[in-house]
Amino acid sequence: MTVPGIPPAVTEETAPFWDAAREGRVVVERCTACGAHGFPPRGICRSCRGREMEWVEVTGPGVVYSYTVNHQRWLPDLEVPYTVALVDLPAHPGVRIAGRLHGEPVIGGEVDFGVEEGPGGFAVPSFRAR
Ligand SMILES: [Zn+2]
Repeated sequence: MTVPGIPPAVTEETAPFWDAAREGRVVVERCTACGAHGFPPRGICRSCRGREMEWVEVTGPGVVYSYTVNHQRWLPDLEVPYTVALVDLPAHPGVRIAGRLHGEPVIGGEVDFGVEEGPGGFAVPSFRAR
């Protein structure tokens, strides 16, 4: 089954993120100069403007910052309802990732994260309520 939706536009900066997701891992950038984490990938540190970034695999749990439950069938094959959450990763300050949330959404609730199949055969971040 293919997942309906619009595939991500992969850029030079984001390609390593999508490659890791295909392997079932979620990675974010970390500045080698000051240690700040960054997401989405930009190839430059948001804190010190350094350009030497490395990739680190994220560790959990995540914490739900916000969420929305979509009931609108935007595409003919789209299964509704579904929840999209913004999740903070306390082990990676400043990183907030959006993705599908499975289970009961609770603001401030802990979630496990991983990847699931998304549009265009891409693996995309997803979360499961604890
Ligand atoms: Zn930095």
